[in-house]
Amino acid sequence: MDMMQYLDTIQPELMNITRLFGLPDSDWDTPKWRFTAAAEEGSFRCQFTDGEHSAENAVLIPPEEADARLQELHRKRAARRLVRQTLYDLCRKATGIHPPWGSLTGIRPTHLMYEAIGSGCTEAENAKRYVIDHFDVTPEKAELLWEIAQVQGQLPPPEDRWMDVYIGIPFCTTRCTYCSFSSGELGKGVLVEPYLDALFREMDEASRIIADTGRTLRAVYVGGGTPTSLNEDQLSRMLDRMMLRFPGAMEYTVEAGRPDTITPGKLAAIKAVGVGRISINPQTMNDRTLRVIGRAHTAAQVEEAYAMARAADMHHINMDVIAGLPGENADDFAVTMDAALRFRPESLTVHTLAIKRSSRLHLEQAPLPDGETASRMVQMGLETARTLGMQPYYLYRQKYMAGNQENVGYALPGHACQYNVDIMEETTHILALGAGGISKRVYEDEGHIGRAPNVANIEHYISRVDEMIQRKRDLFMPEAGV
Ligand code: SF4
Repeated sequence: MDMMQYLDTIQPELMNITRLFGLPDSDWDTPKWRFTAAAEEGSFRCQFTDGEHSAENAVLIPPEEADARLQELHRKRAARRLVRQTLYDLCRKATGIHPPWGSLTGIRPTHLMYEAIGSGCTEAENAKRYVIDHFDVTPEKAELLWEIAQVQGQLPPPEDRWMDVYIGIPFCTTRCTYCSFSSGELGKGVLVEPYLDALFREMDEASRIIADTGRTLRAVYVGGGTPTSLNEDQLSRMLDRMMLRFPGAMEYTVEAGRPDTITPGKLAAIKAVGVGRISINPQTMNDRTLRVIGRAHTAAQVEEAYAMARAADMHHINMDVIAGLPGENADDFAVTMDAALRFRPESLTVHTLAIKRSSRLHLEQAPLPDGETASRMVQMGLETARTLGMQPYYLYRQKYMAGNQENVGYALPGHACQYNVDIMEETTHILALGAGGISKRVYEDEGHIGRAPNVANIEHYISRVDEMIQRKRDLFMPEAGV
């Protein structure tokens, strides 16, 4: 394997490392950054220098294997980790910064905890020490990963026979400035009925795929967008179709999202099909911030929505909040946490703001709290969850997160959302219906995920729904050739 050539292919990944330290991408164009790498005497060796500091590491070349493809895979993996770690060491030396997640830049750090457990570190101290020593993760984050692995270990284990279903309703009353989802503004709602027609068709065919492949339904999740932006009649029809086509799942969740879209009639429609698990997402309880981020509701409407949901006998309400919103300080976030303590949701999801390229917030360069403040908010989220008696049960990271933090789902014991775990851990097949949904087939033995994406554009989805159905058949029933 030509190490230098291979390095070229992972350069974007290396930039993710330098970004952890706030180093600009442009540094890569200056002559002071140099790296050398080679395979020699049974080991890969790598050195980075920025002209002032340097870091050097080596790793044993994985031994010969009969399967040439697997051998190449293992060697690339060893080389990649070596190069990433060496660049990370250099950046730490040069800046003195210790990122909370160490050298990890991926979406799913829980996988590293499972790697530790899988390699024999079944005791808490050993497993935490593995992620601390190998990836320089802080002890607090290692503890979080260990706890999550313990909670997930109590859920029904993933098996090939299970299938989850995601139903996407890509409409919102207004567009949040930080949004990077493929949702459209509801406007006059002219696309809703044609969209539901196409969605119902996809639901009918998806239920056939489950039956034809002999799989068992596990969790059904209705997300978006904001499903409750449908009117009462539309929501009721959609939920009836869902129950007709996907009966008997162990869990159903409906995102109620925007508090201003919730009415007693919609809650009654959700309850009427036997669903008691919803999500009401204030994101913040500060009216000023709600205006800044383009949410057309107030904190008072959040209070009303929670009261309405409890009156409708919803047995599980999840509350989504975001740490690091523009213009907020720790005191503002404390106001949101106080509301969580008052509402007593069954689960609390603490997101950290991530400014993606496709969000308007990114373009407007809104003033954001610094990384230290965002980290403090994340800590307040954890403390609030603990006060409410919750445990962390899933976690994921995104690029460009304030303070290099994470998104964590907390829940009361026995209230973890199975679908959230399945989608984040990528251990269960998912049939994703609606515009922008991405169906996934898990090839456990090969460590590979097959994907069938639906087009994100709502009008294209409506006109091309048959093609979207065929993509799912090709993914889950390639042998059928239909
Ligand atoms: S409610 Fe969610 S999907 Fe809708 S605009 Fe806001 S962030 Fe995007």
